[in-house]
Amino acid sequence: MNLPQHDLAPPIQVTRPSMPEFEAYVEMIRPLFETRWLSNNGAHVRALESELTDVLGVPYVSLLTNGHLALETAIDVLGLTGEVITTPFTFASTTHALVRKGITPVFCDINPIDYTIDVTKLEALITEKTTAILPVHVYGNVCHVEEIDRIAKRYGLKVLYDAAHAFGVTHDGQSIATYGDMSMFSFHATKVFHTIEGGALAYRDGAFKTAVDLAVNFGITGPESVEAVGGNAKMNEFQAAMGRCNLPRFRDDVRKRRAIVERYDKRLKDVPTLRLNRRAEGTESNYAYYPVLFKGDRRRRDEMMDWLAEHGIFARKYFYPLVTDFACYAFEANVPNAKYVSDRILTLPLYPDLTMEMVDRICDVIIEGGNRP
Ligand SMILES: *Cc1c(COP(=O)(O)O)cnc(C)c1O
Repeated sequence: MNLPQHDLAPPIQVTRPSMPEFEAYVEMIRPLFETRWLSNNGAHVRALESELTDVLGVPYVSLLTNGHLALETAIDVLGLTGEVITTPFTFASTTHALVRKGITPVFCDINPIDYTIDVTKLEALITEKTTAILPVHVYGNVCHVEEIDRIAKRYGLKVLYDAAHAFGVTHDGQSIATYGDMSMFSFHATKVFHTIEGGALAYRDGAFKTAVDLAVNFGITGPESVEAVGGNAKMNEFQAAMGRCNLPRFRDDVRKRRAIVERYDKRLKDVPTLRLNRRAEGTESNYAYYPVLFKGDRRRRDEMMDWLAEHGIFARKYFYPLVTDFACYAFEANVPNAKYVSDRILTLPLYPDLTMEMVDRICDVIIEGGNRP
């Protein structure tokens, strides 16, 4: 093997949080040391909510302490019960939120093209207990939103989107947050836009606003009145301040991500053993992830991950194992496409300050590794 310069290079992680200038963040949090208003719907939270309604193109954005609690809160607010149809090809949070709220997840397979829920298999899973569909815009790939909407309307189901990967994505010129009854966004440090930890619910129906506010802050409505059995999912001012520093940089970060993705595409598109992520027509991506599917059996993917690690490059089996195979679940589910993809997918390093030299190094190592006997 002849990649000596690679062996001397510093390790490359799969992701690296985008950070504002230190001074910019300090300026943003300085007033808090005077006001001592650190949480409970403070000035930064209110300002960030308002800024996000513009970015997400919806009249209502509620900030929460993280994306997972946003999902659990949405399940409460939408009044979901019984069964909810969802995808097994997602992060633990999506399924956990349902199960922790006493709902039976019903797993619908994914389509092998963009890895989102297979809308042709949805209707067969609807029973009299079904109250909603919980699809995931996985990797920022947009679900088949029109068809999901049509099915939901026909059967009177709610639609809650897990849009944790899809911040800033548009479909036919329309913000992704405008589809379904509610969309959940995650602002975890590893996401394209972050507030360290954080999350949001975006929705068009103002009737949900009071219910979200109650759920997020113990159901408290005044000094002597508690009107609902709410929990605590408030975003604090330090989180919101980080968001307000990061938000103006978001478009620029997406541009940098896009250039990296285009470089990966150019270098890897003709490698016959790989299948690259397909971005649909009419979708403006946020370039959140770079998933590569290794054709052949699962061993090829696993060996490639080890080979990359030997060269100081850390990719991630995102998502493996499938939720249905978690030790805490072991659900029976007929999801062959999800299983196929989960066994073969690897997400490659992608973050705004990944240099083109690093991308080339990663591609060299992949091509070299694929050519091994
Ligand atoms: C990150 C993520 C979540 C959870 O969000 P947190 O902010 O980490 O709680 C949920 N679903 C998906 C698909 C995610 O990637």
